[in-house]
Amino acid sequence: MDINSSIGCRVSECKYHAGDSQHCTLDKIMVGKNESYSSKAEDTDCESFKAKEDKAY
Ligand code: SF4
Repeated sequence: MDINSSIGCRVSECKYHAGDSQHCTLDKIMVGKNESYSSKAEDTDCESFKAKEDKAY
């Protein structure tokens, strides 16, 4: 699995997470907002996230 060193990520629950390295493995991601107007980091989300299929959350 290739690590994209340009996309740092700490969401280890995602199937695209690089595991030991705190990075994403996708070539690109889409970041969206979960509020109509984003004024802080918590108002944004990685919309490319997919939960690992072998775990239930
Ligand atoms: S898709 Fe998003 S949440 Fe998943 S590893 Fe990549 S940056 Fe992180």
